[in-house]
Amino acid sequence: MNDEVLRAKARDLIRAGRLPGHRPERVWGGAGLAGIHCTLCDEAIERGDVVLEVEVHSGEGASYPQLHVQCFSMFETALRDLESAPAVDQFGHENAA
Ligand SMILES: [Zn+2]
Repeated sequence: MNDEVLRAKARDLIRAGRLPGHRPERVWGGAGLAGIHCTLCDEAIERGDVVLEVEVHSGEGASYPQLHVQCFSMFETALRDLESAPAVDQFGHENAA
């Protein structure tokens, strides 16, 4: 899966609430264990790979999606994409007025 595909998928997961819509308060790094899958790319995180676990709070409580290091960096890029989007709309309204 290439970076653009992962970035678009990260934006979808943020909108769906499966990844946080802001920089997570807590991130843990560790070694992958057998049988876990990356929330972003859906591929296995191999035993011995570095895995990053983020904390997500929602109305239903906390969840802890686990991501490859490169998938986490795509998630951060997607966050910046979404943060910059509303500002463009606000300027658009000012220009229209
Ligand atoms: Zn991944």
